[in-house]
Amino acid sequence: MSLVSKAASGERLTSEEAVELYRLPLFELAAAADAVRRTRTDAAVVSYLIDRNVNYSNVCSVGCAFCGFYRTRRQDDAYTHSYEVLSQKVAELEAVGGTRILMQGGVNPHLSFDWYLDLLGFLKQRHPTVRIEAFSPEEIKGMMGLTGHSASGVLERLKAAGLDGLPGGGGEMLVDEIRHAKHISPARIGTDDWLDIMAAAQELGLYTTATMVIGFGETHEQRVASMLRLRDAQDKALASHGNGYSAFISWTLQTTGVRIAGKVPGAGAHEYLQNVAVSRLFLDNFSNFQASWPTMGYKVAQTALYFGCNDFGSTMLEENVVSQAGARHQATSEREIVRQIVDAGFQPVQRDSLYNVIARPDVEALLARPAA
Ligand code: SF4
Repeated sequence: MSLVSKAASGERLTSEEAVELYRLPLFELAAAADAVRRTRTDAAVVSYLIDRNVNYSNVCSVGCAFCGFYRTRRQDDAYTHSYEVLSQKVAELEAVGGTRILMQGGVNPHLSFDWYLDLLGFLKQRHPTVRIEAFSPEEIKGMMGLTGHSASGVLERLKAAGLDGLPGGGGEMLVDEIRHAKHISPARIGTDDWLDIMAAAQELGLYTTATMVIGFGETHEQRVASMLRLRDAQDKALASHGNGYSAFISWTLQTTGVRIAGKVPGAGAHEYLQNVAVSRLFLDNFSNFQASWPTMGYKVAQTALYFGCNDFGSTMLEENVVSQAGARHQATSEREIVRQIVDAGFQPVQRDSLYNVIARPDVEALLARPAA
């Protein structure tokens, strides 16, 4: 059997075979990834989520060279929002039918652990139906340092206070040689810690996603090595309790106006699409793959729906992180997402963050509305 037929059949691939995939003509690779996507998810539909990004604070002590979001406490535009301001943002999301917030900040050494617990309790009490998916392994590691608790200890307390999920921010490239390179993020959480914290969250029943960023100058072998860590972790989670990663989300490094600009090659649309297809074929134990319209633009994200993706991401009302490193698009509306999905040839369905379909939008009525 040729490699492309084996890949299209959905059979498990070795790392060496996955590296070989990058050498295939792009559209052969796409056809294989699309064949697998069609067997694992509803081929006719593409899902989306109405959500809001909320950044509670931009103060961070880690200092990644690719990050345009963080500030030191003394900078004029450093902020930590009050609970009231954060609650107002959630109320605005509720007003447009949103179902979850993705709430993240930096590793802010000036906030106590109780501040986070009280924040979760405050938001849950005010907005009981909105899911709070918050923080990242890097922030959890910061809280472990603050409290002396283990990852499970921190997460248990956050969950009891109202946390519903731990998004996979900071996954980037799960190869320490890349993540800890001097010109990238030497102080960043290491691969083992990142995976261990995500595993602890999964054991507690929290929702999690896996992320990957390409364009640091990593080799194809390193990309596959990063995916292999995720595939192994997913095998383990599914075998031991069944609560694995809900989705895999990849994008390209954004370098506009950040310190890393000019020091790494970045990655363009061809590499992005190639990597999306390889990930769909190699990560055979993941169901949902999300296209990244904020970093790639709508047209490339639409194309990714034919390279293995089955989800168009979310409205991301108020995205502040990748947009500050040059991502092309910021928040969008449900109408716009639906328009993009229909234009790409699929039926849009609104999902919750667990990938359950919660509504089938009236496309005609939605598109008849004036653009926001
Ligand atoms: S990417 Fe995250 S951890 Fe790194 S500097 Fe930015 S906010 Fe801090």
